[in-house]
Order: sequence, then C-alpha cells, then structure tokens
Amino acid sequence: MTTPPDRQRLHDAAASKLRSDGQLYTSGRRQLVDLLADMNRPVTIYELLETKPKLTQSSVYRNLAMLEEAGIVQKVASSDDRARFELAEDLIGHHHHLICVACGRVDDFVVPARTERTLDAALERIVSSTGFVAAGHRLDIVGTCAACA
Ligand SMILES: [Zn+2]
Ligand SMILES: [Zn+2]
Repeated sequence: MTTPPDRQRLHDAAASKLRSDGQLYTSGRRQLVDLLADMNRPVTIYELLETKPKLTQSSVYRNLAMLEEAGIVQKVASSDDRARFELAEDLIGHHHHLICVACGRVDDFVVPARTERTLDAALERIVSSTGFVAAGHRLDIVGTCAACA
C-alpha cells in the first residue's frame, strides 16, 4: 500500500504537468485523478466505471489517454490483457506490484528504503558489466491474491 499524497499537492502537480503539455486540468480529468488516488491500486477502466457509473466510457478513455501523455497516469501490465491505470510514480512514490495470476488484480506494495538501497546496489553491480546504465528498477511479484488463494 502506498501512502496517498496530499490531495492538494497532487492536483497542483497534475495541473502543472497538463499545463506544460498545453492542456487544461478539466473537472473530468480532476475527477479521474481523485478516483485513482482513492482506489490506491492499478485499476481497469471497467472498475473506474463501476465505481462512478455517471462517467461515460468515451470520456474516461479520452481523459486517461491525455493524463497518460502528460505523465500523470501510467499503464500497468498484469497477468491478463486488460490495461490497468495508476498515478505515475513521481506523484505517488516508488513502489512495486503484486500481480494475481488467477484474477489479474494488481496491488501496490512498498519496499522499506533500506531494502530498496540493497536491491539497487545489487542490481547495479550485475548490470554494470554490460555497459547498461541503470536509472531505476521495476519489480513485480507474481502469485495469487488473498481472495484467489
Ligand atoms: Zn486474485
Ligand atoms: Zn523498488
């Protein structure tokens, strides 16, 4: 579980990212950012519509694409072929994903800072011999969620 960022700071950051893309932070986009922050895990468009039945599918698609282009939202891969969306790491902080192979649900989890440093140092040692310059890592844990186990 990631700690949800201060809501006002989140909206300010989102508005400024959109502005530098020449876009406006419309109420529909703001509502989606709020919704993603409330859900606190990567969700499908279907889950978003289920939570807020008043949203229309076409506007959710359009606004998510816009938010993704502005670097506010990112797509998350799971074990099925449904796209899932979450707020970008530079807004909600570095974290990892628990991926359920049975139902496709994705949950966030945070690794303690000390473990992150150990992980980064070990990975850097391994990749440095290849000439690759590491800028970060992604690490998913694959298995079965509590509901499916
Ligand atoms: Zn599951
Ligand atoms: Zn990490």
